[in-house]
Amino acid sequence: MGGNYEDLAPEDFLRMEEEANGPPSPPPPSPIRVRLACSGDMVSESNVKFEGIEEDIEGRDILTFGCPECGEIHRSLRFG
Ligand SMILES: [Zn+2]
Repeated sequence: MGGNYEDLAPEDFLRMEEEANGPPSPPPPSPIRVRLACSGDMVSESNVKFEGIEEDIEGRDILTFGCPECGEIHRSLRFG
């Protein structure tokens, strides 16, 4: 009794192919930056190793992260 192919319109095949072959979209780099205590450099938080996050008494985010330069753990306000 009939095949499943008959239930799919040609547009469906095209859409499926487009979804399968579409270019993967990499996540955009984070606009938030943190300050490295060792060098004073400002780097995107996507470039550091996330360890934890907390808030100071004013509700600002304090990021704890592994430093890409010295390998130590730093804490910094998040600037963005
Ligand atoms: Zn460092």
